[in-house]
Amino acid sequence: MSSKMKITCKMCRREGVTLCGRDNCALKKRAYPPGVHGPKYARRKPRLSSYGLQLREKQKAKLFYNVLESQFRRYFEKASQKRGNTAEFLMQLLEERLDNVVYRLGFAKTRRQARQMISHGFFTVNDHLVNIPSYQVQIGDQIQIRDSKKTKALLKENEEMTKRHETPKWLSLDTKTMIGKVTSLPEGDDLRQVFDPTLIVEFYSR
Ligand code: ZN
Repeated sequence: MSSKMKITCKMCRREGVTLCGRDNCALKKRAYPPGVHGPKYARRKPRLSSYGLQLREKQKAKLFYNVLESQFRRYFEKASQKRGNTAEFLMQLLEERLDNVVYRLGFAKTRRQARQMISHGFFTVNDHLVNIPSYQVQIGDQIQIRDSKKTKALLKENEEMTKRHETPKWLSLDTKTMIGKVTSLPEGDDLRQVFDPTLIVEFYSR
């Protein structure tokens, strides 16, 4: 699966939240929208209708997780079929994507890099090669970098980052073996993001 979406820090600055996932996001230095009129919006946020707000949260989430519209809608449909909190289920489905997990484990600098590494066959899940970034992880899954020259080089390059990376509590990383594990389902604080999923559910429920 390919994606043409390239997240630039211009998008982060426009939305006022870090969507790119980079440690050195430009938003940290310039916390106002891009362009000559940008600085004045730092004080005064443009008013949006409820439809506009819902749409905006959906766009943010799509950029954040690097997911296309059709796929995003499928996540919503899957989440809404379950009994319970649709917004939470939607967030769970997004968090459980293998590309997000690889990023959360600190193997990649961004979700975008994680996606490329997975597509290039860098990872195994339970000792089987998985090259589908949207693969949904399950409790007990073991994620490991494959043994090859190319993957070793990248692993080395990212090693320091991986070691100081903070793993969310539903995942664990053995820094000796570099094996990541899904220990539980993401819930509660693990699902708090830079966007509000309830607005996204409202958008699709119109
Ligand atoms: Zn950024």
